[in-house]
Amino acid sequence: MVSDRALPIAALWDMGGTIESSGLPTRWACPASSLSRMFAPNVCPGCSSRILPMLRLSEVKLPLNHPEEAIATAIYRKLRIEPKDLTRYSIFKRSYDARKRENIQLVYILDVETSQEKQLLQRFKKNPQIRPTPDTTYRLVTRAPAGLSERPIVIGNGPCGMFAGLLLAQMGFRPIILERGKAVHERSVDTFGFWSKGKFNPESNAQFGEGGAGTFSDGKLYSRIKDNDHRGRKALQELVNAGAADEILYINKPHIGTYRLVKIVEQIRNTIQSLGGEIRFQSRVEDLDIQDGQVEGIRLVDGEYLASRHVILAVGHSARDTFEMLHQRGVYLEPKPFSIGFRVEHPQATIDQCRFGENAGHPVLGAADYKLVYHCTGAQTQGRSVYSFVCVQGDRWLLLHLKPDVSSPTA
Ligand SMILES: Cc1cc2nc3c(=O)[nH]c(=O)nc-3n(C[C@H](O)[C@H](O)[C@H](O)COP(=O)(O)OP(=O)(O)OC[C@H]3O[C@@H](n4cnc5c(N)ncnc54)[C@H](O)[C@@H]3O)c2cc1C
Repeated sequence: MVSDRALPIAALWDMGGTIESSGLPTRWACPASSLSRMFAPNVCPGCSSRILPMLRLSEVKLPLNHPEEAIATAIYRKLRIEPKDLTRYSIFKRSYDARKRENIQLVYILDVETSQEKQLLQRFKKNPQIRPTPDTTYRLVTRAPAGLSERPIVIGNGPCGMFAGLLLAQMGFRPIILERGKAVHERSVDTFGFWSKGKFNPESNAQFGEGGAGTFSDGKLYSRIKDNDHRGRKALQELVNAGAADEILYINKPHIGTYRLVKIVEQIRNTIQSLGGEIRFQSRVEDLDIQDGQVEGIRLVDGEYLASRHVILAVGHSARDTFEMLHQRGVYLEPKPFSIGFRVEHPQATIDQCRFGENAGHPVLGAADYKLVYHCTGAQTQGRSVYSFVCVQGDRWLLLHLKPDVSSPTA
């Protein structure tokens, strides 16, 4: 697993990168060139397009079946402006309020471009639902030095390794990504071959191969993690750049859609390669060369040695052989706390009916879900809780094999 802590900025600095000096909160971002400024210029210096100030309006509620024009009308009303004062708007987030089934409301957060920004901010200065749009632009933390001499290595090409590789490539570090499994297309053939004919390939299956463990899922993209730095948005934007539907950027609980990840993963690979990165498949890392507590390189299954003092381990949680190797090499390993779960099944139509009443099946609402949480109190329970983990529509049980004789069932 990689985190900010695992590859601190200092490590990139150590490779000759320079930390970008853009720590200041900037408010104005040009959607065309991505250039941003603390104070808004009228024209973007990067692409000459006109930049206008932006306001963020939250809690804009409209009936489920509202026509599209109702959004603009709601903006005029909320800001008390004339249509001529609204230059443009975009939907930042859309969720729904289904507490009253007979009167389901869509709830929007909108970004609004208007020539009246200054006056409106003054007029609504006490209104928390009308604020300046925060700057959510992702900024690369560093850039590779001109004569890069040492390329970082990323082990594993699941979501973690793929995004680590993508960011390193975007910063100019030309990473080498090593993946034990096959490229996603060939991997799909092996995985579905196993499910239909029972022929198991221990290196190319539902867990190992380009795209990682969730590649053959419907790609649910929400999490409970707080994201104050808007990193999730960067990930969503990269998925959209790679072919995912734009709506994942604004709907409340987005998912990519079953079998769509294959193409998206291939596109991200193309981007990494076009930026000078390299992805090698069927390249299992067998050993780490660690000297005096410093990694110096890795050894591949075919004996090849690659030197690098910068290695990201993004091997997921199924590579038991790799964990054994790390343990033998003295790498500190810590067991992750785990939850024990069980599965509850209901017909989707029942959940839809319970939550949406006569609006069950409405295309904007999609499949309904629910969440249950119970916080146990008292000394005996040690503060443990019971909660529903995820609500999955129309799934089936898959046996995720690690070896021909070891399997772990998962949904
Ligand atoms: C069936 C299923 C459905 C899921 N659905 C969702 C979902 O809808 N939404 C969601 O958010 N999460 C989902 N998940 C969970 C999600 O897939 C994981 O959280 C995620 O894949 C973890 O990413 P990772 O990159 O850390 O590890 P992994 O995805 O496990 O990737 C690790 C990669 O490293 C490679 N590797 C391992 N050892 C080595 C080695 N020694 N040398 C070279 N390469 C190596 C592996 O082949 C693998 O490709 C699902 C998981 C499963 C199994």
